[in-house]
Amino acid sequence: MIYLDNNATTRVPDEVLSAMTPFYRELYGNPHAIHSLGRRAHDGVEEARAELARLLGCNASEVIFTSCGTEGNALVLRGLVDQQPRRRKVVTTAVEHPSVLTLLRALERERAIELEIVPVDTHGAIDLDRMRDAIDDDTLLVTVMLAQNETGVIHPVARVAELAHARGALLHVDAVQAAGKIPLDQRELGADFITISGHKFHAPKGIGALTIRKGLKLQPLWYGGGQELGMRSGTEPVPAIAGFAAAARLAREALPDYGRVRALRDKLESSILARVKEASVNGVTQPRLGNTASIAFHGIAADELVRALDANGVCVSAGAACHSGSVEPSGTMKAMGLPLHVAMGAVRFSLSRYTTEAEIDEAVSVVSGLQINIMH
Ligand code: PLP
Repeated sequence: MIYLDNNATTRVPDEVLSAMTPFYRELYGNPHAIHSLGRRAHDGVEEARAELARLLGCNASEVIFTSCGTEGNALVLRGLVDQQPRRRKVVTTAVEHPSVLTLLRALERERAIELEIVPVDTHGAIDLDRMRDAIDDDTLLVTVMLAQNETGVIHPVARVAELAHARGALLHVDAVQAAGKIPLDQRELGADFITISGHKFHAPKGIGALTIRKGLKLQPLWYGGGQELGMRSGTEPVPAIAGFAAAARLAREALPDYGRVRALRDKLESSILARVKEASVNGVTQPRLGNTASIAFHGIAADELVRALDANGVCVSAGAACHSGSVEPSGTMKAMGLPLHVAMGAVRFSLSRYTTEAEIDEAVSVVSGLQINIMH
């Protein structure tokens, strides 16, 4: 199989598995136990925290481990709203992941927060004037993703941070898709909170991290042993954390060579556009992640194309993975206001640093050889 669905999840390489194994086989103590096996596990967790801090441009004491991106986002959003702050407004964008947008709609119903969703244009760019107008003195939090999961469009988060902080609001950045693909720096972004998820950059599934800027606190989602600064109780999954750190180090070290991935993505896009008459690239005018190609095959039902590609050995997605099965265009494509015949045909090809040129050439030849049903 040629796997071009790396924004959905990634494979775990041997180096990451090897970093995990000792914590299953020998160093399996509870990191909060006082005996030596516990202390070794604890050291493993703290070394991993320091490695994650290097990836995120923050202090190790500002990193807490979570289970995934969805949990990190929930912890920030609920954790702030549950503190019953005087400010009751949350500002976000129309292209956030469902783990942000669906939760915010639930908080609007259940906790009477005021929610304002700032639109994007047909290129996926956030309307910054609308963002400035939306943030007011009642705004508790602005939550904006750094890189969009379907299009790869990179948002001007540092600019949004200035707008938020000018009105005394906090900024949360969902960097789940950005981590390991572009440099991240909590200070340069001006982020008060950053969510990331390991399985998007070759760590195992079931581990993520949240940064919480020094001095800030969140109400926990649940209570227990008080691990992770009391904000995320539960015994830390030490093997997964060790794998997460190894994946973070490998990603950070490989970042200077990410241009290779971008060159392959560009080749994929230009080769498909040259062969398929009615196709276009979503978000192409914007700064984008180097690994993501959202290609709209005009007049074609994307889910049929995805199935046809799969039958020919190529794994891709129609919109976000979590929307699969739906016959509607994805929320992101709708938010971009693309015409229906373009939005319905949007297929996401997402590469990783393990993708080879031979795989791209083969994927292009499969796409160009397909007999695809045209929508009416
Ligand atoms: N945020 C973004 C931008 C994502 O793309 C995803 C997953 O697709 C998530 C959050 C959720 O991450 P997880 O699958 O780790 O819960």
